Amino acid sequence: MGPACLLIRRFQSPIRRIHQRRNLLTLAIESSCDDSCVALLEKHKNGSATLHFNGKITSDNRSYGGIYPIVASESHQKNIAALANDALLRRPVAGDGKDKMIIDFITVTRGPGMRAGLMTGMDTAKGLAVALQIPIIGVNHMQAHALTPRLDSALNAHEPEVSKGDISMEKASISPEPSFPFLTLLVSGGHTMLVHSKALCDHEILSDTSDMAIGDVIDKCARNILPASIIDAAPNVMYGPLLEEFAFSGCSPQQDHSRLYPYPWKMNAPSSSNLKNQFSYSGIGSTVKRIMEMNPKMDIYERQVLGMETMRVAFEHLASRVFLAFKRDEVKNIKTLVVSGGVASNKYLKTVLRDALDCKNHKDVQLIFPPSHFCTDNAAMIAWAGMEMYEAGWESKMTMMALKKWSVDPNADDGGILGVQGWLQTHVV
Ligand code: AMP
Ligand code: ZN
Repeated sequence: MGPACLLIRRFQSPIRRIHQRRNLLTLAIESSCDDSCVALLEKHKNGSATLHFNGKITSDNRSYGGIYPIVASESHQKNIAALANDALLRRPVAGDGKDKMIIDFITVTRGPGMRAGLMTGMDTAKGLAVALQIPIIGVNHMQAHALTPRLDSALNAHEPEVSKGDISMEKASISPEPSFPFLTLLVSGGHTMLVHSKALCDHEILSDTSDMAIGDVIDKCARNILPASIIDAAPNVMYGPLLEEFAFSGCSPQQDHSRLYPYPWKMNAPSSSNLKNQFSYSGIGSTVKRIMEMNPKMDIYERQVLGMETMRVAFEHLASRVFLAFKRDEVKNIKTLVVSGGVASNKYLKTVLRDALDCKNHKDVQLIFPPSHFCTDNAAMIAWAGMEMYEAGWESKMTMMALKKWSVDPNADDGGILGVQGWLQTHVV
């Protein structure tokens, strides 16, 4: 495509641009924590989507026992551009059957997260957008987590059959599921949040982390509980999945574990008295540390039981905040609870939440767990958030800056997703 075409593309009206094109293609970058991720996502005119590339490289923080910002940042500098290069090579063929499809816009995580990592992603994204003369969208990482099940539903929907023509494709148009409003329990290495998602840019935070995030605490507990041989062989510092595998090796999450002990210790739920509706996980971390310090030579079986108990207490605490939320008038009729973030891939969490909802007369609440590769940090969810924002008429200015903190709640001090500077509204839907 020559320079004149590029200029015409850039200055077409956004409304024309959206309706004229059959499909939309975005390249997305995620670098808010220790994962360098790039994705290439196509959204078809009927609402379905195809993921052409979804690359991820996690920085090696093992010698630090946790995420070390300089190591993570250097890993982004090393890997983001190379991943973007790989993604560009995977562009699908355009409708003419000859050329590769043109990327419509670049999406990038603008925040919240570790500033140095965000800046590497943002600089790469801005460079691509300038070079390709296409718009850029800086999206909120937490909004992207909340929208993940909608990405999953679009990916599972069928691509339109071109031969049926435009009219039948319009009729067959698919809406992403779940529709708003829904609840999201975001349980990750950096967050523990219960969010009431009312609309694309309106996510009220009902409960938030008061001290440490659940994934962070599970990782620290796992580091204490797991035998040294498992820790030494771990591929990264994400010890949570290893704790699940270790604790439940030989028995299923459905089993009643109370018969497995008494031991001279007890795991208690975080005290609710001064917590209101907040989450608190630091106490679980210090209890496990104390138990292991008292018995550093603990045998494997007791370690397994301690691992199960740690997860049980942590997950029941999540359920307790969900029940509080269901007491609210504006929430009580919501029938969908999405569980997202890395910890959502834990099978025992699924059992605990389902059992707890059933016991408390919430049998009709549907639990949605997006696939685990979309639950941990990834760029496909960023690409999808970009798609939804773009179609809703939002782009970002090239002058936008990375945001270490950025709420998804319009009532927060920063005004939430649309409250920060740097947005361009191209059209109103
Ligand atoms: P994220 O921050 O969303 O990328 O998720 C990473 C966090 O999820 C880390 O703290 C992991 O240890 C945790 N995690 C991932 N899988 C599991 C699992 N199966 N059980 C418990 N925690 C997990
Ligand atoms: Zn995340």
